Amino acid sequence: MPEVHAVLGASSAHRWMNCPGSVALNANAPDKSSAYAEEGTLTHSLAENMINYNLGRMTKREFNKAFGEIKKNELYTQEMQEYIESYANTIWELMNEAKAVTPDAALLTEQRLDFSEYVPDGFGTGDVVIVYDGFVHIIDLKYGKGVGVSAESNPQLMLYGLGALAAYDLLYGIKTVKMTIIQPRLDIVSSYEMYAEDLEDWGENIVKPKAEAALEEDAPCYAGGWCRFCKVKSTCRARAEANLELAKFEFQDPRLLSDTEIGSVLKRAEDIAAWAGDVKAYAQAEAIEHGKKWDGWKLVEGKSNRKYTDELAVAKTLTDAGYEEAVLYERKLLGITAMEKLVGKKNFTELLGELVIKPAGAPTLVEISDKRPEINSVESAKEDFE
Ligand code: SF4
Repeated sequence: MPEVHAVLGASSAHRWMNCPGSVALNANAPDKSSAYAEEGTLTHSLAENMINYNLGRMTKREFNKAFGEIKKNELYTQEMQEYIESYANTIWELMNEAKAVTPDAALLTEQRLDFSEYVPDGFGTGDVVIVYDGFVHIIDLKYGKGVGVSAESNPQLMLYGLGALAAYDLLYGIKTVKMTIIQPRLDIVSSYEMYAEDLEDWGENIVKPKAEAALEEDAPCYAGGWCRFCKVKSTCRARAEANLELAKFEFQDPRLLSDTEIGSVLKRAEDIAAWAGDVKAYAQAEAIEHGKKWDGWKLVEGKSNRKYTDELAVAKTLTDAGYEEAVLYERKLLGITAMEKLVGKKNFTELLGELVIKPAGAPTLVEISDKRPEINSVESAKEDFE
């Protein structure tokens, strides 16, 4: 299915519900399709074909033809195939569970879910929708592995839920809406359930006014975690001002920082570093791609390492000069990621599972909200790492 995005789309709901001004700014910003987005489209197409084949909606011949096309894409990997197979198997199991409740359960893929009753022209695409009497389940595949995404109170999934209610309530009398995010590369299956009436209440009292605010002229901008997926995150004044404000620190004692102050600086530093990194990446890309000059800055050559122009010629020159060929080459095993790509995740686990360990990582200071358990003994953590 071609990628179509609504102005107030579900996938950007976290941003526009928190920063109404971002809607106008994003509408005028150029769309940069990233390799990640293309990979996402490819995995969704692969998943849809696998699910339909598993359900007997495609013949083997049809599936092989579609799969052959997908395999031609340069982003396709064996690893991708295995992750999507495991996702498609999970969908198969969920459908079987639904069929156990009632043989009338229906499964739909790539469904356009229209929630325009709450958001003008609002729609999104539900990767998988399973529906039966009184119940609808929306499942969203996320192939990215940068950040784990929770389904709990997730506005994207909740908007899909409103779209599913609009589509199926009349026929199925939906009482419960279940929303699930599956992130196969992070081994995450996160689900969240709501009563249909609570979801509709959220749509009426939270979403509707926020959507109206977002479409107002000169709507204000508010910076926060949602800036990360905003197209103008590098040049937005509200984000810059919020971060520069964060940087102003009132020290109680001008000479030394207290422990509390250091804690506050650490927290602010993360946001400021993310913002500064975005600004630098934008400025550098503009300079390289469009020859843009920035006051006080210039483009220079980065560091580089020497390399051979012709490895075979190097070896021949040295063997001619009397060096043993055996000492000129080193044999090196492929790294774990490359090896896993070569043999596939399943074979890798079967053949090498016991020959791979994951050593303790270096102790790292993170915010208290981080999901990893706290290290209790610094000494033993240091020993494990060493
Ligand atoms: S960068 Fe942040 S504050 Fe600026 S428009 Fe985008 S979401 Fe809003």
